[in-house]
Amino acid sequence: MEELRQSIEQLKTPKPGSKGEVEALRLSEEKSSKAFRSSPDWIVISTLDNGRFIDVNDAFLRITGYRSEEVIGRTAIELGIWVDTDERDKMAATIREHGKIRDHEATFRMKSGELRTMLRSAEAIDLEGERCIISVTHDITERKQAEEKLRVFADNLKKKNAELEQFAYIVSHDLQAPLITIGGFLRLLERRYRDKLDSKAGEFIASSIEGTVQMQSLIRNLLDYARVDTRSMDFEQIDATAILNQALANLNALLDESGAVVHYDNLPEVTANPVLLTQVFQNLVGNAIKFRGDKPPCINVSAEKKGREWFFSVSDNGIGIPQEQTESIFEVFQRSHDKNKYQGSGIGLAICKKIIEHHGGRIWVESGPGKGSTFFFTIRVSSLG
Ligand code: ADP
Repeated sequence: MEELRQSIEQLKTPKPGSKGEVEALRLSEEKSSKAFRSSPDWIVISTLDNGRFIDVNDAFLRITGYRSEEVIGRTAIELGIWVDTDERDKMAATIREHGKIRDHEATFRMKSGELRTMLRSAEAIDLEGERCIISVTHDITERKQAEEKLRVFADNLKKKNAELEQFAYIVSHDLQAPLITIGGFLRLLERRYRDKLDSKAGEFIASSIEGTVQMQSLIRNLLDYARVDTRSMDFEQIDATAILNQALANLNALLDESGAVVHYDNLPEVTANPVLLTQVFQNLVGNAIKFRGDKPPCINVSAEKKGREWFFSVSDNGIGIPQEQTESIFEVFQRSHDKNKYQGSGIGLAICKKIIEHHGGRIWVESGPGKGSTFFFTIRVSSLG
């Protein structure tokens, strides 16, 4: 832009000089003229006071659809190119005051009537004593449309997710009542008719009761998952050490019974929802104890700052997870170990994932059978910390 401006000024006010200077001027003029003509952005020279076109490049003519003779000597306001004429006045005022304007977004009307969004940078120049503006205008219509499409898509996705969560909540909530009834009547049957039925019937009833208990537990967990209130934006500046301590206090009995040792470094302050983050630590440390190996559980919690994120890790010396299941375990009801040996419903990690993603982070695990597991999650570094 600066080169172009200087060359135009030289062009309009050539100074007499040596042969070399004349040649240098000719080359400079040729360079700027080429840049002006072949630029993919539209470049316009117009007067500062009323915006009368002095020169326009090919990109301007191609994008707007005008012919050169239709625009030279006329103004963008007369031609209706400026959709908002106040905007033009504001731009001219800024240039008058500061000499230039950078990346100013505005909407322009093409000859066909089509509106296009453009990013304009402009500078004041003197042309033979007249104050003019040289402006370079970049067409961002397609980019804007793509951004808008993405925004609508993300909004719809958010809405669909909320609907799905609501659906999961209603279904699991409403399923509970009939299940309680079935369980209740099965127990009644078992108690009142035990003597009248044969042993096989007794076994069938016992298995049915066990089935209802399991189903109740699954529904309760599904409800827990649906209840994680990711609509809440109650984030605050919290000390992750205090949050971990709360989670450990909640796991007190399990820690005592297993003889687990938990080490942790100085954890940072983060912007997060304290209840939700406690739940994440509780689930991860709880799993590290549950899926322990032969030795007493040894758990390490730490955090490392990488760029704009904190990388938290919770590692254990437990039984580990087969490589091929390290992704699926974050989905609802996905488990990688024997259901009869390890109690649970496969919801805990799905809840952690939901919470961490709600905080704008990611969660994953590095593990292998017999190698222990390290769960990582990220939280953005807050503007305060
Ligand atoms: P749950 O613990 O109720 O089964 P989770 O969603 O918390 O549900 O975990 C899903 C599965 O991931 C577990 O069933 C287990 O197979 C595996 N897993 C989670 N944490 C660990 C861990 N620390 N060590 C080994 N396996 C784990």
